Amino acid sequence: MLTTSEFPSEGLMKVIVDRHGADSQKIHQDIKKYKDLRRDLFVANADVAKEEARHVKALKELRERCAKATKDCDHPIKTFHPDPSGNNDSYYECDICGVEL
Ligand SMILES: [Zn+2]
Repeated sequence: MLTTSEFPSEGLMKVIVDRHGADSQKIHQDIKKYKDLRRDLFVANADVAKEEARHVKALKELRERCAKATKDCDHPIKTFHPDPSGNNDSYYECDICGVEL
């Protein structure tokens, strides 16, 4: 996307002038329309970036809470899960925190 300083570019002006000829009111309307669209997109993209950063931070905090809870658990009771194929993939799971032991 073009930066604001390049707006409207020569190429866009040519498209708009080709579209409207000498009708300066329509030319100005088109320039304003595209300027507004670009501003709205710029703001929306900035909001997306902010929301993504907030989301990443929230997930990190939640994962840290899960890790702490698992770390604090001394796994007092567990369930044995045998390997149905009869191989060595059986395991115990803590009934409190769900960690595989
Ligand atoms: Zn546990």
